[in-house]
Amino acid sequence: MIEMVNIHKKFGENHVLKGVDLKVHKGEVVVILGPSGSGKSTLLRCINGLEVITDGKVIFENQDICDKKADINKIRQKIGMVFQQFNLFPHLTVMENITFAPIKVLKKSKEDAERLARELLKKVGLEDKDDAYPIQLSGGQQQRVAIARALAMKPDAMLFDEPTSALDPELVNEVLDVMKQLAYEGMTMVVVTHEMGFAKEVGDRIVFMDEGNIIEEGAPSEIFTNPKHDRTKNFFGKIL
Ligand code: ADP
Ligand code: MG
Repeated sequence: MIEMVNIHKKFGENHVLKGVDLKVHKGEVVVILGPSGSGKSTLLRCINGLEVITDGKVIFENQDICDKKADINKIRQKIGMVFQQFNLFPHLTVMENITFAPIKVLKKSKEDAERLARELLKKVGLEDKDDAYPIQLSGGQQQRVAIARALAMKPDAMLFDEPTSALDPELVNEVLDVMKQLAYEGMTMVVVTHEMGFAKEVGDRIVFMDEGNIIEEGAPSEIFTNPKHDRTKNFFGKIL
């Protein structure tokens, strides 16, 4: 579904991604681990064209996203993204946050958009919060609304960039549970996280990045029990 070939990204002199190759198959959950500054967020942003790559190729569902003929907005609709900061529209209710893009971009009727939004709110356990404003919700609830909002566009893949890092510890699991459910339903997911329990349980594949390269990748059972690279061992040594 996603194929990144020899991705380089520079910000000025700062060479942030140094030839990354990554394939993600349909239905697969790939977890990206690595120290801060290693290029994880940049890599995610390259998948949906939020960053313009310096060199290489990103193919999404057989389309080269850098191709001038490709409709990047259409491609982006198929790739949902959830950020560390929930980025809800503060002046819109939960219902309006979720239905905004389906109505504006997909040209759905308000009725259809609201019907889907109710289903999604139920899925993330917030069916009674449709009239609330983001500020009235906890961080965990806001992040679940952000997930529902992304799903309302019926994406084929979901990207998560440290979705629980801004949450109080007691709110982390309610968000991870929603992500777990999505994974079990077969969603294709690329997840940057420091939640090792989630990575082990839900990840089909772990990708370890350091200094703009993928240093090591494999099944959680291999990577966690028998990391081959010193930098991977060192990273696990610090956080496990
Ligand atoms: P990670 O998510 O692994 O912590 P990032 O992808 O956020 O790493 O950052 C990798 C490097 O790229 C860092 O050195 C960061 O300063 C730099 N960087 C990220 N985004 C930008 C940007 N928009 N402009 C300039 N430098 C950036
Ligand atoms: Mg990051």
